[in-house]
Amino acid sequence: MKQKVIVFGGTFDPPHRAHTELPPQIAEQVGADKILYVIAALSPFKSQTPPTPAHHRLAMLRLATATIEQAEICEIELAREGPSFTIDTIEQLAQQYSSDVELRILIGADQAIAFHRWRDWQRIVELAPPLIMLRPPHTKKEVLDAIGTFVPKDDLAQWQSWILPLDMIDLSATELRDEQQRACLPLDSLLPTVRQYIEEHGLYNDQ
Ligand code: ATP
Repeated sequence: MKQKVIVFGGTFDPPHRAHTELPPQIAEQVGADKILYVIAALSPFKSQTPPTPAHHRLAMLRLATATIEQAEICEIELAREGPSFTIDTIEQLAQQYSSDVELRILIGADQAIAFHRWRDWQRIVELAPPLIMLRPPHTKKEVLDAIGTFVPKDDLAQWQSWILPLDMIDLSATELRDEQQRACLPLDSLLPTVRQYIEEHGLYNDQ
């Protein structure tokens, strides 16, 4: 059987419980040996709001993934100029790994419903078929309906099979960047080591 590698891209600004709890469950479900956390330099969809400097996000991601056995951090997007397009990353990884490795990209429901806006999305699907995590406020039906607007009808059953049976985690980095909201969220929304890093470096104080 082919070895499976999950490619999990994100801004991780900051990395939170959904980023750390869901991927290992998915690795178990699909029989993947590795979860590649690909840290974006600049998301093409978030260019209006520059992220926290990469060295801080990388340090937080290292802390967040320290105890995840299958996790490996991939910095190839930080080394590239300009916005981080997933297709460039997947093409690069497909060359790097041998053909007996099966790549799968992991995305949340918010990304799945907008997947047709990703550069060369059909090519991404060919090289690394998605795995999809449901995420509030989207129901499975809403996600499938949205996907049905841009994929051929015959492909829809396959996309449906890519939506994973997982308990949803209602969390986003956006709410964690807001100091007041962060104070109201459950303490375990962030790993204690990440929370401590944020406090020590005074991150997200002025938003
Ligand atoms: P932001 O609020 O800044 O948009 P985010 O919480 O979505 O950030 P990202 O680093 O952008 O975090 O997310 C990386 C990937 O993880 C994306 O595919 C996103 O859809 C997914 N993701 C993030 N939070 C969740 C969640 N609570 N449930 C499922 N998937 C999630």
